[in-house]
Amino acid sequence: MARIEPSDGIDRPLSAPAHIVMEGVGLSYFTLQQETEALRDVCFEIARGEFISIVGPSGCGKSTLLSLISGMLTPTQGSVRIDGEEVSGTSSKVGYMLQHDHLFEWRDVLGNLTVGAEIRRMDRKKARAKAETLLERYGLGGFAGYLPSQLSGGMKQRVALIRTLVAEPDILLLDEPFSALDYQTRLTLQEEVFRIIKDQGTTAVLVTHDLSEAISMADRVMVMSSRPSTIRSVHPITFEEGSHLSPWDRRQAGRYNGYFNAIWKELEQR
Ligand code: ADP
Ligand code: MG
Repeated sequence: MARIEPSDGIDRPLSAPAHIVMEGVGLSYFTLQQETEALRDVCFEIARGEFISIVGPSGCGKSTLLSLISGMLTPTQGSVRIDGEEVSGTSSKVGYMLQHDHLFEWRDVLGNLTVGAEIRRMDRKKARAKAETLLERYGLGGFAGYLPSQLSGGMKQRVALIRTLVAEPDILLLDEPFSALDYQTRLTLQEEVFRIIKDQGTTAVLVTHDLSEAISMADRVMVMSSRPSTIRSVHPITFEEGSHLSPWDRRQAGRYNGYFNAIWKELEQR
């Protein structure tokens, strides 16, 4: 069995220039009753085009971390930088896809795909052309005029993904995007989304409860501790067969079980 090097998890130097940098990031939520310290001293660098999966106990701050990268939240400590610039507010360079990404039921697929462009007052024609190209490329070419109620759960999530891609983000944040789907659909979508992301060279950060999904899609898996959450460890995922194995092939690869067992044990220890 392949030996897996333990990882210190902090600030691993990367050969490619960092795309996203988190430095000493802390985030506390304040309500009238209490303060909740969600994240403490998170230090991490993500390279351009890298795929990172984040796993950790429920409520530890994984979604919070994505919100910080998206600019929807501002850190209470430290800084988050994209391409060397401090994140301040949301940007169309960062796409965000959620578990239940609601489509507008009264708009057809194409109408859903161009809604972001309309809100941002982007060129409608350009957005429409982009949407049509993406639908075609990702197997939904015949569905532009369908209403969401006429699509399966898997197709809806694919439309939601394409909607985030219309804005041509170079960072994609995925917060448990497959967890509401049945097992078979989930496996199919993992394959497709993986291919789309590699195709576009997008930097991706995926939060998931599914360890098998985390390992089979990512270049590195980040394990978070319970709250106040910090990075517990980071596992680089490499396969002897090469770096372009699909999630399906990775699950059959020799090193896969070693990664799974090592990370599973860590998650159990809390
Ligand atoms: P995860 O995604 O890992 O399940 P979250 O990032 O959603 O965790 O939340 C981390 C912690 O912060 C949890 O304890 C949660 O209750 C708390 N929290 C999240 N959002 C808010 C908020 N808007 N106000 C107050 N507390 C929050
Ligand atoms: Mg969450």
